[in-house]
Amino acid sequence: MPAPDLARIVSLAKRRGFVFPSSEIYGGIGSSWDYGPLGVELKRNVKEAWWRSMVYERDDVVGLDSAIIQNPQVWVASGHADNFTDPLAECPSCHKRYRPDHLDDPEKCPDDGAALSPARLFNLMFKTFAGPVEDSASQVWLRPETAQGIFINFDNVLTAARAKLPFGIAQIGKSFRNEITPGNFIFRTREFEQMEMEFFVKPGDDERWHAHWIEERLAWYKALGIREENLRLRAHEPGELAHYAKATSDVEYRFPWGWGELEGVANRTDFDLSQHEAASGKTMKYFDQEANEHYFPYVIEPAAGADRAALTFLFDAYDEDAAPTGDGKEETRVVLRFHPDVAPVQVAVLPLSRNAKLTPTARAVHAQVRRAFRAQYDDAQSIGRRYRRQDEIGSPLCVTIDFQTVESDNAVTIRNRDTMAQERVPIAELTDALRSALRAMGSARV
Ligand code: ATP
Repeated sequence: MPAPDLARIVSLAKRRGFVFPSSEIYGGIGSSWDYGPLGVELKRNVKEAWWRSMVYERDDVVGLDSAIIQNPQVWVASGHADNFTDPLAECPSCHKRYRPDHLDDPEKCPDDGAALSPARLFNLMFKTFAGPVEDSASQVWLRPETAQGIFINFDNVLTAARAKLPFGIAQIGKSFRNEITPGNFIFRTREFEQMEMEFFVKPGDDERWHAHWIEERLAWYKALGIREENLRLRAHEPGELAHYAKATSDVEYRFPWGWGELEGVANRTDFDLSQHEAASGKTMKYFDQEANEHYFPYVIEPAAGADRAALTFLFDAYDEDAAPTGDGKEETRVVLRFHPDVAPVQVAVLPLSRNAKLTPTARAVHAQVRRAFRAQYDDAQSIGRRYRRQDEIGSPLCVTIDFQTVESDNAVTIRNRDTMAQERVPIAELTDALRSALRAMGSARV
């Protein structure tokens, strides 16, 4: 199945309530998007899966939630005030702005062929003012990455968590970049969520840990069902490296417009900690008791985007196949084959029809199921249409309550999204049966 085009995903996302254009009633605003009832669940599940694998399942990583607005000195010391720039060139005839490094011909306007203006460097940080006075003393930046919040808390966390190298600090939160050319839906926006972890190691151990985290992060996407042929690793060329990095490898996904970065795994060396020590005058070194010496740890950083990951799960899950309509014919079925740990709804509870005889039992089954799984109750329209809808939002399992359930056997039917197989199960055994079915579909959580 070839990857669906972007328009198809954007339209499904809007129709089913994953992602809406932001401020739509006022004509929208460039690159902002709002997550609807299913999208918010998808993104929460992505973040939860990341936090679980980075924090809960490890002994050597703790979490943090630092502020978006920090002392501006943070961004001077980190180098962002001077170096966090992208090249910007303008077309003198149509006045469109471009990133020449993203164009096939960096000197020509892709729209009308005119020669672009010479590129100038444009700083991507959003500026604003803290407090009522709009002067340079009150100017602050919105953070363009969550990482610096981690570095400036290095000593606090080290002491409070009684940590020893190697150890990491993980954080999920919003970042802001005044991107010159946002686009491709939620792939590149000006406001987005990052999932970053800074892993502090002894200098000299950094290359081994870098290799380790590159493999770990690639494996995370595969474990959540992203198809292997759509994933690859790409090492940065020396000229492409960020100002703080000794080496970086990106995990990339094959989007319909080409390979795109899902996350960068960088070896940031001791750049950030030494910069903050020099600028703040506070020690940022680690005391190694065994070696009896103070030194700056090196830092390995896997930095991912929650929105890009959510988009990737949408693309990779999309499929179409032929499904029986019930009257001997077949129709094309759109199905999102989400991994059960990221699917917004894991189990849909569907009475055969909206009927006073079925409703009390169906409601009781829903109450039982929702205690253990992300569940949804739906009794509107025909059962066939409801199956189609659950397929299209990627719910792995449906539970159907019919007249036989209430009249004779006290059992229900579990329908599997992928095989469309149906299995009759006593209500008393339903929770266990759903759990094993979700595990068989790859869940590591239920
Ligand atoms: P790009 O080259 O695509 O601009 P980057 O290399 O600048 O990305 P990093 O600074 O490494 O990105 O940020 C880590 C991750 O944060 C990226 O891999 C991506 O998933 C996410 N990210 C960065 N910028 C954006 C953005 N404008 N919109 C959505 N996600 C973003």
